[in-house]
Amino acid sequence: MAKKIIIKKGLKKDPARRELKHQGFKKKDLKKELKKKEIKKKELKNKELKNKDLRSGANEKSRKRGPAVKEAAREELKIRGTGSRESASGRNTGTVSGHNSTHEKKQAQPQSTGSIFRRKLSGNEKTGRGVILKRTKEEIREKAPSVKIIPLGGLEQIGMNITAFEYEDSIVVVDCGLAFPEDDMFGIDLVIPDVTYLEENLDKVKGFVITHGHEDHIGALPYVMKKINVPIYGTRLTMGIIENKFREHNLLGITERHVVSFGDVVTLGAFRVEFIKTNHSIVDAAALAIYSPAGIIVHTGDFKVDFTPVYGDAIDLQRFAELGRKGVLALMCDSTNSMRPGHTPSEKAVGRSIDQIFRDHPDTRLIVATFASNVDRVQQIINHAYKYGRKVVVEGRSMVNIIDTATKLDVLNIPENTLIDIDQLKNYPGEKTVIITTGSQGESMAALSRMADGMHRKVTIGPNDTVIFSSSPIPGNEKAVTGVINKLVLKGADVISQDVHTSGHPCQEDVKLIYNLVQPKYAIPVHGEFRHLKAQAKLVRELGYKKEDIFLLGSGDVLEISEDGAAVREKVQVGNILVDGLGVGDVGNVVLRDRQHLAEDGIVIIAFALESGSCRLLSGPEITSRGFVYIKEADDLMTGAAAVAEDAILQCQESGATDWNRYKNAVKDGLNDYFWKKTQRRPVILPMILEV
Ligand SMILES: [Zn+2]
Ligand SMILES: [Zn+2]
Repeated sequence: MAKKIIIKKGLKKDPARRELKHQGFKKKDLKKELKKKEIKKKELKNKELKNKDLRSGANEKSRKRGPAVKEAAREELKIRGTGSRESASGRNTGTVSGHNSTHEKKQAQPQSTGSIFRRKLSGNEKTGRGVILKRTKEEIREKAPSVKIIPLGGLEQIGMNITAFEYEDSIVVVDCGLAFPEDDMFGIDLVIPDVTYLEENLDKVKGFVITHGHEDHIGALPYVMKKINVPIYGTRLTMGIIENKFREHNLLGITERHVVSFGDVVTLGAFRVEFIKTNHSIVDAAALAIYSPAGIIVHTGDFKVDFTPVYGDAIDLQRFAELGRKGVLALMCDSTNSMRPGHTPSEKAVGRSIDQIFRDHPDTRLIVATFASNVDRVQQIINHAYKYGRKVVVEGRSMVNIIDTATKLDVLNIPENTLIDIDQLKNYPGEKTVIITTGSQGESMAALSRMADGMHRKVTIGPNDTVIFSSSPIPGNEKAVTGVINKLVLKGADVISQDVHTSGHPCQEDVKLIYNLVQPKYAIPVHGEFRHLKAQAKLVRELGYKKEDIFLLGSGDVLEISEDGAAVREKVQVGNILVDGLGVGDVGNVVLRDRQHLAEDGIVIIAFALESGSCRLLSGPEITSRGFVYIKEADDLMTGAAAVAEDAILQCQESGATDWNRYKNAVKDGLNDYFWKKTQRRPVILPMILEV
C-alpha cells in the first residue's frame, strides 16, 4: 500500500516528462520535446490571459442573444486540434428537436454560451493542475488556486442531487434533482432544493450540466429555471426527458438547452466540462470531467460498469484511465451500492432471466412492472415479447411518455406490429400479450396498484396472470410493494420478483476499479445516505487513502480544494422546498405541523352565534368533527363537549368580555381539557363565531 503512494508521488514530480514517456519518446529526445512544450505552454498562457476578458464578455452577450461563437474557444480549438474524438457510442449525432437553442451539433464548431467542442485527447493537454506542477515549491505554497465544491443537496438522502462548483466569478451546477416526500410530509407532492445561494450569485452561474435523466437529477429543473434561467447541457435522452418536463411547465420557449455528445467539452466561464460515457439504468448517462484552474474534478454521476449493455457501448473506462494519468484533483463517486460486495451484474444478465420467464409461462398473460425510465429493460421485454410472438401493451402515463421520447430518439426500437393499444387487449388471448406497466414501487396511483385494487378500467387480474417485478424497492418503499404483491396474489396471480432486476449503481469492486483508474488526490463520496457515503469512505481507505484525503460532506458545506489541501471552511444556506400542487414553498413548517396534527387526531369544529354588542349567545354551540371520533356513536361525548363550550361562553359573557378572541380561546381551552380527559386525544379545535 505504502509503496503505491510513493510511486504516485514520484510520477507526479514531472508530469510532462511522464506524458512524453507514455507517448513513446526516447530518452534522448525527451529534453528537446520538453523544451518545445515549454515554449508552447508559454504561448498558450499568454493567449489565455488575453482571452480571459473576452470570455466573460462573450458569456454576458450570449446569455442574452443566444448562441455566439467565442474567441476563446476558437483559440482553444486551434491549439488543441479540432479532430473530433470518435463519438463514444457512435450514435450520438442525432438532435433533439426543440426550441431555439437546442441546436444541431456540427463537429468542432463551438457554439453558444459555453462553447462545445469535440476534443482530440492529446496526451500533452494542459490542465490547471499541469500548470501548478510546473512551478517551484515556494510558488505552489503561495499560489495554488483553489476551487469550491458546494453540494446543495443529495448527501443526506438518495434524491435531490445538485452540486455547485465555484471558481472566482464562475459557477457551474451539476444536476438539479428532486426528492420524494417523506411519510410525514402530508400532501406534499415533491421536494426541491433551496437554491438561495445560486440566486445570490446569479451573475456567476454559467450553466447547468446534467448527468442523466432520472428525477433525482433533473426533477427540480422546471422550478429552478424559473429563478435561475441559464443554459442547460445534457446528452440526447437526458435532454429529451427534460424537454418533456419543460413542455408541461411552458418553459420550452424561454430556456436555452444544448444537446452534447460523449467526448464533447463545454466551456463555462473558468470551467470546462467533458462528458464521458457511462452505463446506468437509463440510457445516455454521463460522467463529467470538470477542468478548473485548480485541477480536474471527476464526477461519476450515477453509473455502473456494464461490459455488455443492451444499448450502445460499455462505460469509457479508457477515458477514466487517461484522466487518471493526467492527474485528477478529486473524484466524486456514486455511493449508492457501496455497501454491496462484488460487481453489479450486467443488464444482459436480466435478459436471460426474462427469457426464462417467457419460456416457463407460455399459458399466462405476463404483466411486467419496471421503472419507466429504464429504457434498456423495456427494450429487453419488448424483444422477448417479439421473440415469443406476444403483443405488447404499455400502461401508465410516465411509461407511455418515456417510451414515446425514447422511440423518437431511436434509443428504443419496437418491431412493427408488436405494440397494441390497451383497448385491443380484449382481442387477443392472454398468453399472446405482455403488459409493461408503471407501479413497481407500489405507488398508490400507478397502474399496477390500480390493477391490484381491482380499480383498473381495462385490466382485471386473475389466475391467468403472471406479474413480474423487474425492479427492487427503493429503501422506504418495501411496505408499499409488499402490499401490492399481497393483493395480486389474493386475486390468484403468480408473482415473480427474484432475479429480474440488476442495479444501475456500482458495487464495491466497481467503485475500486474507478478509483484505481482515476487515482484522485481527494475522494468525495456522493449520492447516498450517510451510511452509503461512509461505506465508500471505508473502501477508499482500503485502497490506501489517508483519512484526511477523504471528505464526507453534508449539504451546504463549502469544500475549498487545491493541490495544497482541502477543507470545509464555511456553509451556505440549503434546505427543502416543499411543492404542493401549484404552490412552491408556500407550505412551511407551520402548515406541515397542522397537517400532521389533523392527520393524527382529526378536527372538531364548534359553531355558535353571538349577538353583536351584547355578546349574548343566540344559538349553538353546534359541534361537528372529522377524523376524530365517529359522531353518531359518540353522542355522549359530543353532548358533553357542547356543554363545556357553552359554559366557557357564558363565563366570558359574565366577565363582560367583548373581544371575540377571548371567547374563542376560552372554548378552545375548555374543550382541549375535556377531550384529553375523556379520550386522551388532542384534536384540532376550531371555534367559529357568527355575529348576528
Ligand atoms: Zn441518482
Ligand atoms: Zn440515476
